[in-house]
Amino acid sequence: MKKLIILGGGESGVGTALLGQMKGFDVFLSDSGQLKPNLKEELDKAGIKYEEGGHTEETILSADEVVKSPGIPEKAPIIKALRAKGVHIVSEIEFAARYTKAKKICITGSNGKTTTTLLTHHLLKESGIRAELAGNVGTSLARQIAAGNEPDWYVIELSSFQLDDMYEFKADIAILNNITPDHLDRYEYKFENYIRSKFRITQNQTKEEAFIFNIDDPVTEEWLPKIKTGGRNYAVTTKSTTTSIYTQSGVMHVGAREGANLLFVAENLPIKGIHNIYNAMQACAAAQLVGIDDASIAAALITFVNAHHRLEYVGTVAGVDYIDDSKATNVDAAWYALECQKKPVVWIAGGTDKGNDYSALNDIVKEKVKTLVCLGLDNEKLIKAFSGIVPVIVEAKSMEECISKCHSAAQEGDVVLLSPCCASFDLFNSYVHRGNLFRECVNNLEK
Ligand code: ADP
Repeated sequence: MKKLIILGGGESGVGTALLGQMKGFDVFLSDSGQLKPNLKEELDKAGIKYEEGGHTEETILSADEVVKSPGIPEKAPIIKALRAKGVHIVSEIEFAARYTKAKKICITGSNGKTTTTLLTHHLLKESGIRAELAGNVGTSLARQIAAGNEPDWYVIELSSFQLDDMYEFKADIAILNNITPDHLDRYEYKFENYIRSKFRITQNQTKEEAFIFNIDDPVTEEWLPKIKTGGRNYAVTTKSTTTSIYTQSGVMHVGAREGANLLFVAENLPIKGIHNIYNAMQACAAAQLVGIDDASIAAALITFVNAHHRLEYVGTVAGVDYIDDSKATNVDAAWYALECQKKPVVWIAGGTDKGNDYSALNDIVKEKVKTLVCLGLDNEKLIKAFSGIVPVIVEAKSMEECISKCHSAAQEGDVVLLSPCCASFDLFNSYVHRGNLFRECVNNLEK
């Protein structure tokens, strides 16, 4: 019996354990932290062995194969020990995909993954295709396969960390949204390593498979010729009409398949901003490649509702709009959020800085922002970056204080935008926690 060790007991780890057991492996799960009670109960019920609060090296090193949670970095001592011994380490998606015949649309990028994944899935579902979500969103792929779920298509959101541990996997349709510096702490602070990781979305592709990407993204454009990608290329652009998928004069033209030519007025998209035009063009191209007709795609586009905390309108208080873009945890996402604002902006930024270079925001901030409210434990870098660029800069150390200051600073006709450029962990548990508190405080203003 082959020994499968799973490192990390979250949703995907437990899903892998269930699938591994079903496929005849001797399964052991190990987590350096504590497991959630419901997941523990599931493992107990299935009779799967596990440990929490630390890794027993001897047991783990006896593995034939290891499935590792994407959250565990290469520098973790247990990974170093496994590498030294030459044990094969894969991601949950790599492992699980061996056991399904369903086709796969896979989406990666520095920003826009979740939006594009949800939209693609929505377009497929609304057209009657049997499609399921997996990867970073929804139920893990492994768990779904273990449950005998065999749709026609899986739509899978993939982070670079997942891609790093994928070797044999092949996407039928790969989408690369964009590449901007992020998570460099996991890539030896070398942007090139992160870029190569993102391009792994195309690995093993041949002319049978499709690769959809944003050719206006400077990093993708520069690296495309340097990377051996084998799939059929589908470039999307808003800057020319030289590809079959472009936006001109506010109209999206999507012709990814012979005979298909979707025309859609971008302003009618329920998701706003130029970044979402790119996301939508990519999702529509994928839907056409699946075989969906243009009328069905157009009808489904209109009914899409995005996940929370992505340029989400929260409410209007005293003539001031409040928008929650808490998911904007890097500079590029904040740029796009600011770019699509039509009213003077009171901008909430700050949090845990991931080595940000704010200078890319100078022009857009100068044009759009009247007041910057820095929401973080340490705001020094942010204040330094925008002094002389934003007329008024204030600080807040809690969401309550922040919203109160925004309320004072904003006038009728302004917009208060939470688009922090930073991770949330200094003051909040997560971007979701930060966004929910934002909403709560805005709602309290209304009372
Ligand atoms: P991800 O899953 O990659 O984090 P999301 O769809 O959750 O992407 O969006 C994260 C943040 O990035 C949000 O603030 C959103 O407004 C912004 N965003 C979405 N799509 C893009 C894009 N194509 N380019 C730049 N920013 C984007």
